Amino acid sequence: MLKDIPCGEVTEDHVGSSITLAGWVHRRRLHGGVVFIDLRDRSGLVQLVFNPDTPNAYQVAEQVRTEWVVQVKGLVRRRPEGSENPALSTGAVEVAVDEAVVLNQSLTPPFYINEESDVDESLRLKYRYLDLRRPTMQANIQLRHKVVKYIRDFLDTKGFLEIETPILIKSTPEGARDYLVPSRLQAGEFYALPQSPQQLKQLLMVAGMERYFQIARCFRDEDLRADRQPEFTQLDLEMSFVDEEDVLSLTEELYLTMMRTLVPGRNVPGPMPRITYDEAMARYASDKPDLRFGLEMSDVSDLAAQTDFNVFRAVLNSGGIVKGFAVPGGGSYSNSALRELEDFVKERGARGLAHVRLGTEHSLDDLTESDVRMASGLNMHPQWAAQLARQMGAEPGDLMLLMAGAPHAIHAALSALREEMGHRLGLADPNTLAFAFVVDFPLFEWDAEEERWNSSHHPFTAPDDDQIHLLDGNDLGSIKSKAYDLVCNGSELASGSIRIHRRELQEKVLRLLGYEDSDIQERFGHLLEAFDYGAPPHGGIAPGIDRLVAILAHAGSIRDVIAFPKTQRGTDLLFGSPSPVSDAQLRELHLRVVE
Ligand code: ASP
Repeated sequence: MLKDIPCGEVTEDHVGSSITLAGWVHRRRLHGGVVFIDLRDRSGLVQLVFNPDTPNAYQVAEQVRTEWVVQVKGLVRRRPEGSENPALSTGAVEVAVDEAVVLNQSLTPPFYINEESDVDESLRLKYRYLDLRRPTMQANIQLRHKVVKYIRDFLDTKGFLEIETPILIKSTPEGARDYLVPSRLQAGEFYALPQSPQQLKQLLMVAGMERYFQIARCFRDEDLRADRQPEFTQLDLEMSFVDEEDVLSLTEELYLTMMRTLVPGRNVPGPMPRITYDEAMARYASDKPDLRFGLEMSDVSDLAAQTDFNVFRAVLNSGGIVKGFAVPGGGSYSNSALRELEDFVKERGARGLAHVRLGTEHSLDDLTESDVRMASGLNMHPQWAAQLARQMGAEPGDLMLLMAGAPHAIHAALSALREEMGHRLGLADPNTLAFAFVVDFPLFEWDAEEERWNSSHHPFTAPDDDQIHLLDGNDLGSIKSKAYDLVCNGSELASGSIRIHRRELQEKVLRLLGYEDSDIQERFGHLLEAFDYGAPPHGGIAPGIDRLVAILAHAGSIRDVIAFPKTQRGTDLLFGSPSPVSDAQLRELHLRVVE
């Protein structure tokens, strides 16, 4: 090795010994004729001191610039009293250098590596190898390693086998578009990159592996919505002979112990609640609620029906609902603050936002006209406001926010508003990780645009045993499934389900999803055939690794915890991909690019 120990590990124990170190020049300063260099490697920083009385080394110190790579040899000594730096692991010591060699020079980097300055992201991505040198990014990538290692060790103790599955495969749908790879040897035919190893892990259960996991790369060609990557990493796992609770409790134990080990300072309430999908939608208007705070929803359609307010009337008459939540202390919000909130929900697809503000003068029992200020047009008696307040859990001094519409039309905006208010009121403690399982998802959801049923999760999810008969009816939307999600602080971290393991049921579900019989055979024949050979009951889950590490690292984006991510437009700015290929390559692949 070109170094004896890592820079960040030089401590008082080394005082008096001569050591060799190597790393990057993090910072250099001249002070009273002496050159100080902070030398950096992955482990951290150590202070080097160069004195003119060791002229060779001193000359090197004068010449080097930030990010040059150097090797030094010197004596470890205690720093002079008063100059210790308690913020550094090496802050009590310094190295008096007597030999120094430049191992490589560096151009001036396009951005500071030794400062947490706000650098344009496209510049960071183009020079990712420099961006990754920055201490926060180093910490993120190290944390990611620890997460993955923890998962591997944990699952090993639980009897799981890590098994690799192919990347060149056939479409295994998760509701996105496939990435296709043309075959050179079989003209006109294509592989698909897996959207997940879903069918492969199910086949491994048929194969008797019983407990499988993989740190799996998944590929989904989606129009990139906020903070998604075309390729991302999941902990993919599958177990045989289990029911839902077996998968949930294993996942819960993994997450709780991992959090306590890797981020012991974070507040992680356990046990993790199990909330049904219906309850989550009713109470939080979201299937991935942020449970760090209340601000729970109330359906106040009954009270709304007592008003002449046009907006409410029209919605209620067409079968919609009026729903909202109380904002503690929001009674003093100004009209312009409320208009701003209305703009916020309109940007998220809502038609409007009604409100009722309560003053603090009187209790709910004796509210007067002057205590209540309502959205214009909502001219109701103070007693109505008091009733509303009781139903919504509001107190004098609070604000009640209401939206009207079909549930699916208002839930997204209501939930975004709830999260926004939670953050504004400082209720979303950044140190808390509020995990929960959302269970009993619907099996299907109606796609109004395409006029067909889609799977809520994926087509391999089993319906509830006592609801299988409903597959023959015409109320498919009411069928509950054995699907579950793990959520945390308003994000979905994992999805999974108990699977269908019988051919007839799988075929029936695929038909209800609109697949023709020939299609079913062509696309899923291999899986259906496998089910004919003693497929065991099985189920699993697939927690996303990127999002988890981002939450643990307090990173603003999953791009900050992926070594080489792509931009929102799916571009790799470092390699410059995607990029054109030569005509010869196209010919070999039997492809022609059409303008
Ligand atoms: N394959 C599913 C997904 O990628 C996860 C699962 O059902 O295990 O979301």
